Amino acid sequence: MSNIIDGKAVSALERAKIKSETELFIKENGYAPGLAVVIVGDDSASKVYVKNKHNACLEVGFLSRVYELTESTTERELLSLIDALNSDSEIHGILVQLPLPRHLDEKKVIARIDPDKDVDAFHVQNVGKIVLGDYDFLPCTPAGIMVLLRESNIEIAGKECVIVGRSNIVGKPMALLMLHANATVTICHSKTQNLKEVTKRADILIVAIGKAKFVTSDMVKEGAVVIDVGMDRDENGKLCGDVDFESVSKIASAITPVPGGVGPMTITMLLQNTLTAAKKAALASK
Ligand code: NAP
Repeated sequence: MSNIIDGKAVSALERAKIKSETELFIKENGYAPGLAVVIVGDDSASKVYVKNKHNACLEVGFLSRVYELTESTTERELLSLIDALNSDSEIHGILVQLPLPRHLDEKKVIARIDPDKDVDAFHVQNVGKIVLGDYDFLPCTPAGIMVLLRESNIEIAGKECVIVGRSNIVGKPMALLMLHANATVTICHSKTQNLKEVTKRADILIVAIGKAKFVTSDMVKEGAVVIDVGMDRDENGKLCGDVDFESVSKIASAITPVPGGVGPMTITMLLQNTLTAAKKAALASK
């Protein structure tokens, strides 16, 4: 049986650190780090994510503002709200909850966010910085995985890392972070041939595809570290990951569960990015 990487416990420790750094920040500057979250429309899952982000901000002592816009909001209205937040000195981080309704151009909206306030790290300027390995913010989910690996004392340098999934939010930035940490990195996707042969090579296997229990024990090397990013529903509607935890946990040396693995880290990294943005802004104003 493998070690279970406890995302809840690591997340609680990281949040405690952020909370005490925030107290110090407020003492030194006389104001709190501020995060603005913008949500457009009525998607119920997005509403839950936004509420969780708001509560997490309050928990660590941030200023939190949530802008709930109706489904019929025009691009011009959304862009002018972003312009206002870009020049609002109380706000250090801006997050536009995705997906947006179809009539709004996500690329255009993200491009409008001031890169210094882009705490999701989706702006092309921040993506470019991540490619170069010289960044202020990292996308929250890959950043959270790096913290989980570090806190679990998992060595990365020189290891074979296979990432399944190449999304802009998870797979691609994850591959870059592992490369910067000196792993030998392979990225797989839906057109990869002989996927099982590739995943079996991995010392560290990271799966982000959105398919319930897709990775089974015959696809995993004995003793591998397995990181499951998926948030799926099984045949009974129960939350599960992209990895078949029951079989894979018997052969992996360490594994993240779903729920309780990668998930809890994502919002924690958003808090970290907002604190970083506030510190940077405070330094620039001195
Ligand atoms: P996405 O944008 O839908 O991308 C899925 C990726 O998986 C694509 O690159 C796709 O390949 C690849 N893929 C699909 N089927 C495959 C197969 N049979 N074999 C190999 N590759 C396959 O997904 P995402 O946004 O990265 O999210 C992935 C999962 O992580 C979802 O379950 C999501 O809910 C979860 N997630 C969790 C968190 C968290 O905080 N825990 C955060 C973000 C996402 P192609 O490029 O060829 O289509």
